[in-house]
Amino acid sequence: LDETNREAMELEKAFGATNYHPLPIVLAKGEGVWVEDPDGNRYMDMLSAYSALNQGHRHPKIIQALKDQADKITLTSRAFYNDQLGLLYEQLARITQKNMILPMNTGAEAVETAVKAIRRWAYDVKKIPDQQAEIIVASGNFHGRTTTIISFSSDEAYQRGFGPLTPGFRIVPYGDLDALRTAITPNTAAFLVEPIQGEAGIVIPPAGYLKAAYDLCKKNNVLFAADEIQTGLGRTGKMFACDWEDVVPDLYIIGKALGGGVFPVSAVAADRDVLGVFEPGSHGSTFGGNPLGSAVAVAALRVIEEEDLAERSRMLGTYFLEQLMTLKSPVIKEVRGRGLFVGLELTEKARPYCETLKERGLLCKETHENTIRFAPPLVITKEELDWAFAQIKSVFQSS
Ligand code: PLP
Repeated sequence: LDETNREAMELEKAFGATNYHPLPIVLAKGEGVWVEDPDGNRYMDMLSAYSALNQGHRHPKIIQALKDQADKITLTSRAFYNDQLGLLYEQLARITQKNMILPMNTGAEAVETAVKAIRRWAYDVKKIPDQQAEIIVASGNFHGRTTTIISFSSDEAYQRGFGPLTPGFRIVPYGDLDALRTAITPNTAAFLVEPIQGEAGIVIPPAGYLKAAYDLCKKNNVLFAADEIQTGLGRTGKMFACDWEDVVPDLYIIGKALGGGVFPVSAVAADRDVLGVFEPGSHGSTFGGNPLGSAVAVAALRVIEEEDLAERSRMLGTYFLEQLMTLKSPVIKEVRGRGLFVGLELTEKARPYCETLKERGLLCKETHENTIRFAPPLVITKEELDWAFAQIKSVFQSS
C-alpha cells in the first residue's frame, strides 16, 4: 500500500469509533460505476453504497441539480414552506400511488416514522386499546440501527448491550405465511417487511408470499408496510420490489437511492387515512424536506425514469445471474438474485474473496459472513458487467 492510502486509513483508525470494518482501500473519486484511490487506481463499485448509488457516482444531472439548488437556498426548516418540497411530493405520490408523503433524511428515520404512524393509526383509527398495538416483523430483518428498530431485530449482534429494548414487536419466520397468520391478533397494527431481505444476504421469499401476506393483512385490518429502502427505486428490476407481485403496500418506506448517492433523503408514502394521523408537533425533523435534498431527490427520480434503470436492472440482472450460475466452484453454495441485486452464498467466509476481488479491481462486500452481495450502480453497461464477471470467474474457478 502506498503512503497516501495508508495515511488516510491510519487517520480514520486513529479517531474513528470501531463500528465498521472497511476493506483496506481508500476512495478519493467516483464516476458512474468506477471509483479511484488517491493514486488513481481504478475499481468497479459493485456495492453502490448498499444500493444508495443506483444512478451511479456523481450522475451529471443530479450533481447539476445539487449545484443549481445550492446557489439558491439549502435549508429552511419546516417552520416555513419551500419551493422544492412540493415538487418532490408530487413525484413520490405519482410513483407510489399514495396521496401523502412524509420526508425524513435517513432510512432508519423513515422506518421510525412508519412505526409511529402505524401505532397512531392503531389507536386512533383501528381503536386498539392504548399501549397494546403490536407490529409483526420478519426474522432476519434489517430496518436500521436506532434503539427501537434494533429492538425487533433477530440478530444478537445488533442488540447486545443496547437494552432495555422497545416492546410491541413480534417476530415471525421470513417467508412463512402460516406463521404470519397465526401471529395476527386483534391488537396487530401492521406487518413490516422487506420484500427481499438485503442485509440478510439477498433472501428472496417464496413466490406469492408478498401478495398472500398483503391479502392476509387486508382481511384482518392490518397495515402492510414495505421497507423498500434497499430494494426500491429500480434495484430489483422494477420500480419497487413489491411490483413483482403487484402489491401496493399501505406504507412505502423509501431512502438510499432517493438521494441519488449525493444527499440523505428518505420518505414514507401512504394514504391520508394512515399518514394523516400526525398533527403539527407530533413528529418532525430539522433537515427533513429541505430544499437541497428535495431538488436532488427530484433529479434522482427523474434519472431512474428517464434512463429506464429498473428495466435495465431487470435485463442485466437476468444476464448476470445466468453467467454466475455457470461458475463451477466447490465453495459456491447458491447464487440468487432479482435484477442487479445478487447474492453469492459460499460454503465458507466471504471476506477473503472480497479482498481478492478488490485486488482484481472489483469492490464488493460480504454480508452475514458467507454471502457476497453484487449490487452495482444500475447505469452499468453490459460490457462492464462482462468485465466484472471475468474477474469473479478468475477468482472462483481458480480456487
Ligand atoms: N432498511 C433497509 C432495508 C436497509 O437496507 C437499510 C440500510 O441498509 C435501512 C433500513 C437503514 O437505512 P439507513 O442506514 O439510511 O438508516
